Amino acid sequence: MIRSSRIYVAGHRGLVGSAIVRRLERQGFETIITRSRDEVDLTSQAAVNDLFDQQRPEFVFLAAAKVGGILANSTFPADFIRENLQMQTNVIDAAYRSGARKLVFLGSSCIYPKYAPQPMKEQYLLSGALEPTNEAYAIAKIAGITMVNAYREQFGFNGISLMPTNLYGPGDNFDLESSHVMPALMRKFHEAKLSGAPTVTVWGSGTPRREFLHVDDLADAATFMMDKYDNGDIVNVGVGEDVSIGELAALIAEVVGYEGEIVYDSSKPDGTPRKLLDISRLLSLGWRPKVKLKNGIVSTYKWYVENGAQRS
Ligand code: GDP
Repeated sequence: MIRSSRIYVAGHRGLVGSAIVRRLERQGFETIITRSRDEVDLTSQAAVNDLFDQQRPEFVFLAAAKVGGILANSTFPADFIRENLQMQTNVIDAAYRSGARKLVFLGSSCIYPKYAPQPMKEQYLLSGALEPTNEAYAIAKIAGITMVNAYREQFGFNGISLMPTNLYGPGDNFDLESSHVMPALMRKFHEAKLSGAPTVTVWGSGTPRREFLHVDDLADAATFMMDKYDNGDIVNVGVGEDVSIGELAALIAEVVGYEGEIVYDSSKPDGTPRKLLDISRLLSLGWRPKVKLKNGIVSTYKWYVENGAQRS
């Protein structure tokens, strides 16, 4: 990408897309194309084709997706598979047909088998059964990876696929029903601190382990890979270490300044027991994560207090 490149960020209002736009703006790119959902419905093939015909982006970051936490995924699997398949199919196909030079597709660490050996290497894809709570979403993402590679094979289209681990950061969804664990716990501890509640409820057993990547690190990796990587092999993006949900809860409580008790609700699902990515492929390309978990939680909590807490 050069300064005058025409760069389309699909999903620029989301956690990932907004971080990519922030990064591109900071780097001085002059033609960043974005469209809100009201302007272009990415589930509509006609609307997406029109956008690409008119704008002719050269580089495409496909960060548009329907995402959610464990409860949303297990409650609305039809929405997750349909919307993701539609959006990604439309954008990948339109990018190829309109002559885009390159596309970065963003998948997820939930594409790997539920009981994959840890840390999870890229080659474990399609080697076993998926975690049922987000199977519909995962299969949509796996279809996206396969589509990107099929277009590379059949048409020579330069698409690459990155698999980020669990993400967090400014602009996240703090709705308690549909969010992921990090924003959910930030909000629960914050509200409990304000109301003086004696306990905060954490779902499941607290024993599952998750890896957390700050979204600014993902945006950094996505632009790095747009410039440096031209290969169909998927690449994991993570930090290479994980924490238990219990440890995460304790860390967030400390940052928020909540001193009450943490209780566990075993009626809620744990999901997959562990989801830690092997990031050696990305490290070998010369990229390193920069945001330490504690610092990322501190800055995201600050963002939530300043921007999100009133709205949510
Ligand atoms: P997952 O990584 O796809 O399982 O998605 P989540 O981020 O939604 O959940 C991660 C883990 O955190 C699961 O074991 C959840 O049960 C646990 N968890 C604990 N409390 C919460 C909460 O308040 N919200 C969510 N979404 N997950 C929670």
